[in-house]
Amino acid sequence: ADKQLSITTLRVHYETEKETVHAVNGISLEMDEGDSLGIVGETGAGKTTTALAILGLLPKPTGKIIEGSILFDGQDLVQAGETEMQKIRGNKISMIFQDPMTSLNPIFTIGEQIAEVIEIHNEITKDGAMERAAEMLELVGIPQARMGEYPHQFSGGMKQRVVIAMALACNPKLLLADEPTTALDVTIQAQVLRMMRGLKEKFNTSLILISHDLGVVAQICTKVAIMYAGEIMEYGNIEDVFEKPLHPYTEGLFNSIPRLDVDRDRLSPISGLMPDPSRLPKGCVFHPRCPYAEEVCAKRVPQVNDTENRKVMCLMYEGIMENKMRKTHA
Ligand code: SF4
Repeated sequence: ADKQLSITTLRVHYETEKETVHAVNGISLEMDEGDSLGIVGETGAGKTTTALAILGLLPKPTGKIIEGSILFDGQDLVQAGETEMQKIRGNKISMIFQDPMTSLNPIFTIGEQIAEVIEIHNEITKDGAMERAAEMLELVGIPQARMGEYPHQFSGGMKQRVVIAMALACNPKLLLADEPTTALDVTIQAQVLRMMRGLKEKFNTSLILISHDLGVVAQICTKVAIMYAGEIMEYGNIEDVFEKPLHPYTEGLFNSIPRLDVDRDRLSPISGLMPDPSRLPKGCVFHPRCPYAEEVCAKRVPQVNDTENRKVMCLMYEGIMENKMRKTHA
């Protein structure tokens, strides 16, 4: 069957007079209806740029799609005009940002704001829209009685719940969430994630969750793409990647997560910094930081190894695997 979302060799640049920032460098991704994909990586890996490209919201005039296609329900969003994209945004595809105030207006009540979204996208009376807004609020665990309150009367976690209600009010096919819980404290974060997962299932919405935190992604997604310097280093089912990360960068990310059974002093975060995206290294973009790098890594660009439901972008992939096997059997 056709994929709901199919991104092929997407390349996005930010072009200024001074420099060209290579934000996304030829990524490909596919999603079926109802899938939940986590995109994980450090700041500047190209996660948000990918989301903005899908939504047609790249900053103008610097942000440009240089190459590639984004097929959504058979339509290429790269070719779609602004009027078309406006229809798609909020209707077929919704977005949740890290800061709920990006989506909320301080001078209207939350009831009015959710109802407005519903009215724009549906033929419905004002009363009908208010009723539906109340239902949406109940679904995210906010009592109807608070419909008439303003955003400042809500806590951070509650505001993000309101934004989720707004994003789902039109029953979108795909929800993009960019660090939706990063600003919240850990307990609230877990509650909001649990709620998102429940609603995602209830509405059969596909989800792309962007996060720097593998743990957050694991709570809600079934697939994961690990991004680094604008490329996808590894892609696969979340359990498989957790059980056995195959790419050296993924391995590094795991080693930098604090674990209860490992002494904190022994954590080994990946040394070095992500390269400047206007001056990317030749060959494998990860080679300046990679503990397995060999001479060839600075010269040849890795091709994607596509094995057993996993995609891995590494030249030494087979050699590294053999070595690990030998170590575990020794
Ligand atoms: Fe490391 Fe080389 Fe693989 Fe890149 S290609 S991840 S530098 S081993």
